[in-house]
Amino acid sequence: MTLPPLIDPFARPISYLRVSVTDRCDFRCTYCMTENMTFLPKKELLTLEELDRMCSTFVRLGVEKLRITGGEPLVRRDILTFFRSMGRHLETGALKELTLTTNGSQLARFAGDLHAAGVRRVNVSLDTLNEEKFARVTRWGRLPQVIKGIDAAQKAGLRVKINAVALKGFNEEELFDLTEWCASRDMDLTFIEVMPMGDMGAEDRVGQYWSLKDLRAQLAENYTLTDLAHRTGGPARYVQLEETGQQVGFITPLTHNFCESCNRVRLTCKGELYMCLGQEDMADLRAPLRASECDAPLEEAIRAAIGRKPKGHDFDYSRQQADGQMSRHMSHTGG
Ligand code: SAM
Ligand code: SF4
Repeated sequence: MTLPPLIDPFARPISYLRVSVTDRCDFRCTYCMTENMTFLPKKELLTLEELDRMCSTFVRLGVEKLRITGGEPLVRRDILTFFRSMGRHLETGALKELTLTTNGSQLARFAGDLHAAGVRRVNVSLDTLNEEKFARVTRWGRLPQVIKGIDAAQKAGLRVKINAVALKGFNEEELFDLTEWCASRDMDLTFIEVMPMGDMGAEDRVGQYWSLKDLRAQLAENYTLTDLAHRTGGPARYVQLEETGQQVGFITPLTHNFCESCNRVRLTCKGELYMCLGQEDMADLRAPLRASECDAPLEEAIRAAIGRKPKGHDFDYSRQQADGQMSRHMSHTGG
């Protein structure tokens, strides 16, 4: 049965769902988590069966792209079962793409099975190629393990894109090394501006902030940048580096340049739907999911939530303080 698609009040069709499947992680990146994080009790989390029901309902309502994230999605127990079961929507053609964002630590173990489940692309987050700096920024991560994961992913036939958070005074001097390294491995690269998510204690966000406008200008000193027209409906803009042929993306969530084409919503691991990354408003979908075995109340709750999707967000660094600061962490909403 074809259901009417999800269209928000600003006539934007909602076709992209990002799903956080866990708030836990085997790293403690300084811009994302504190060292002593308190995680959700298990009963708060959607079970894998509930995640399946939730995502399948979104697919029935017209979602064509699912991105699995976290926390670290690959540390969730039995997560492959979930990937395999989402694969059935790829087979029917209802789902066009199943992807994930990962820190890469478990990829060596899972790459082949992910490919078999229908995953064709992964985003791997990697901010530095220096082992000591990597250990410092991730606190618990080890670079060689991640490199092994990337090797395994490419060997399994997964297209890898690297995501690097641009951090002033940290990976500034590695701009060209990172770019060349990605080019040499035929990987695209996206830079992300650091966002004011969660309370990071001593970390100084304004001090960490490296504007992608500056980063782009530095890149243009060594390469010829051609703007690419295609947009993903998300906060990324892309250029092609003529010298290497690779694509470089810039995610600047702090500027209001993408809200008008926003096609996405985010589901947390406990079943809250955030209609906008930069707004506090959310809808609890776990309650209608658990209240009935029938999906009708859930569908109704999803439609009501999409009906409240705001026009845009309120991040603002312009006054040298992190205005519009969100109380939740990226690992909770899923980056
Ligand atoms: N653990 C996985 C990973 O690291 O790729 C998936 C979840 S992580 C929250 C998703 C993305 O959010 C990562 O690329 C990470 O670098 C980014 N991220 C986390 N905190 C951020 C922040 N405060 N500002 C900008 N990006 C952030
Ligand atoms: Fe974990 Fe990803 Fe957050 Fe780093 S950015 S702590 S890998 S969830």
